[in-house]
Parts: sequence; C-alpha cells; structure tokens
Amino acid sequence: MKVTEINNLLKGKGLKITKVRKGLLSEISKSPKALDIGQIQKKLSKKNITPNLSTIYRETQTLEKNNIIASCEIFGKKEYRVKVKGEVAHCLSCNKITPLSPSTTKKIKNLDLQLNDARSFSIFQENSHLHGLCNKCSS
Ligand SMILES: [Zn+2]
Ligand SMILES: [Zn+2]
Repeated sequence: MKVTEINNLLKGKGLKITKVRKGLLSEISKSPKALDIGQIQKKLSKKNITPNLSTIYRETQTLEKNNIIASCEIFGKKEYRVKVKGEVAHCLSCNKITPLSPSTTKKIKNLDLQLNDARSFSIFQENSHLHGLCNKCSS
C-alpha cells in the first residue's frame, strides 16, 4: 500500500494517522507473508520506529477491529495480514498469503454450502481464508 492509500484508509475509518500505525500497516501490506508481532517489530525497527510489543499488539487490535487487517492463529502464534476481498490461502509452512480468484472463491463458498447441507451443521469461516501448503512448500 502506498502512503497516500494508507492515509486515506485510516482517515476513512476515522483513525488518527500516527507514525506507528502508518508504519505497521505499510509493513503488513508490503509483506507477501503473514507476520507475527515480533516480526512486525523487527521490520519497524529497521525504519527507526520502535514501539514496544504491547503497543504493536494494541495497534494490530485496532486495525483488526476496523477491518483493515485480519489475523489468524497457527500453532499458538497470532499472525497478521492485510484484509482483502475474497478468499486467501495461507501457507502453514512459509506463511505466504495467496489471494484466490473470484471464481475459486465462489467454488469454495458453494462447497461450504454443500458441506453444511451434508453434515447438517454450519462451518464458520470467520477469516475467510484457507490453510494449507503453497506450491513451493508442497513440492
Ligand atoms: Zn491463516
Ligand atoms: Zn509455503
């Protein structure tokens, strides 16, 4: 995301534009992989932005509440990525996030509905993304 995009996004949500917030969003949106809090801190410190972990944690919560970023927990570690439209696939091995095409997203939604029918219970996909292995990691 460009600086102007980030500023507009934050403004649009009624959020104050702070150095930490901007830096955080820039790093998360730039990264092809989901990042945990420690990795975010490392990336920020390279830019001379040095919030402590609890600040980063608080900021990610704010951004998540405002639907700007999404998180998931793998192996007990919370990881953050930018929220995009449609489904994404999240590689459990290298953490890479791959957006899925609208047609794939639709197929998954349909499959979900079929499974719900078949099992007569509902699958909750709160984060709208899939876990698995990317091409690189599965080969
Ligand atoms: Zn995930
Ligand atoms: Zn992978």
